[in-house]
Amino acid sequence: MTNTSESDGDAPRVPVVCPDCDTTSRVPLSDVADAVERHNDQLHDGDDVAEVDPDVADRIADLVATELGLLEDGD
Ligand SMILES: [Zn+2]
Repeated sequence: MTNTSESDGDAPRVPVVCPDCDTTSRVPLSDVADAVERHNDQLHDGDDVAEVDPDVADRIADLVATELGLLEDGD
């Protein structure tokens, strides 16, 4: 019924900010959890310093939900 469009090769990118390093890096949505963990592990002894930009965190939740098809209530 609903046309789901899956676009390969054009993954949405998510800004990850680290106030300690004063850096922002954009990583593919599918890599964001790993990237944050690796950054904090390597540079901050595992402390949760770097994180997804709070401004877009809400939209990311929507993106993820869309990617997983959670927004479609298949009946
Ligand atoms: Zn950092």
